[in-house]
Amino acid sequence: MTWARQRSLSRRGFCLCCIGSATFAATGAWLTPSQVFAEARELVDLIRSGAAKAPIKVHRLRGNVSVLEGSGGNVAVLTGADGKLLVDAGITASRPRIVEALASLGSDPIRHLINTHWHFDHADGNEWLHGEGAAILAHENTRKHLAAAQRVEDWNYNFPPSPPGAIPTDVFATDRIVKVNGSTLALRYYGPAHTDGDISVAFTDVDILHTGDTYWNSIYPFIDYSTGGSIDGTIRAADANLTAATDSTVIIPGHGAPVSNRSELKDYRDMLVAIRDNVARLKQQGRSLAETVAAKPTAGFDAKWGQFLIDPAFFTQLVYEGV
Ligand SMILES: [Zn+2]
Repeated sequence: MTWARQRSLSRRGFCLCCIGSATFAATGAWLTPSQVFAEARELVDLIRSGAAKAPIKVHRLRGNVSVLEGSGGNVAVLTGADGKLLVDAGITASRPRIVEALASLGSDPIRHLINTHWHFDHADGNEWLHGEGAAILAHENTRKHLAAAQRVEDWNYNFPPSPPGAIPTDVFATDRIVKVNGSTLALRYYGPAHTDGDISVAFTDVDILHTGDTYWNSIYPFIDYSTGGSIDGTIRAADANLTAATDSTVIIPGHGAPVSNRSELKDYRDMLVAIRDNVARLKQQGRSLAETVAAKPTAGFDAKWGQFLIDPAFFTQLVYEGV
């Protein structure tokens, strides 16, 4: 492992969404499938061992809502007499530090878990949280992906089915209202976006919106074409988030600094649209993927957005795939 990769892995926590780009960044070239597979295996172990050590930072937001940073995707927590509710489960190796962070928010037991989508860095902790007493709610496609083996082509990686306790037992198709701890949560399906199972969770009483991985704050996102994601779906979801938010809404992104706002979200949407246009123009001219990457269609954005594990070349590939 190069220093650069180690540094970027440890800088902002860990995310399986980043394996493909990490292999590219480490070698400067795409690897053969078997090399990528070996790298991915190595990185899964790294993600787990890294999460085992990473500190969990607690950000208190509004009312009884907080966000935990440091275990894969950002985890929202609602406390109260009906028991704690979590939005996303983080990575299992963080369990002791998540338990500690949750205890710092009060002694209510863990009773409710909502998954924003099926990815490992958002649902790996499902099993232990269910063991603690959490009922799991998600979109029906999230249950489908967790219940069966999944191949993610852009990671060249196969995920086994999740254990029975990790599978959501309550699912919905388009909308769901959840009333718990005196709060009303509005859950909404985006349609195919980052995957085909993404939902937003709005804490309506305190104007907080958890977007899952439809929004990465100030970093290029992963897009999972293998389970229904696309650049156009990602842009549609960003538009839906802009419509759902006002200037006073606190926005929790799937990745990146966990306390965000509509202005930063607008920058994200504008970045997606501009790069999509640049890449589409090059592809329409008949340029290959390698030629498109070489033309640097993301150049104007890289200084800000390209500093995480989805690097400019990998993000260009993800956009190229969908235009
Ligand atoms: Zn994801």
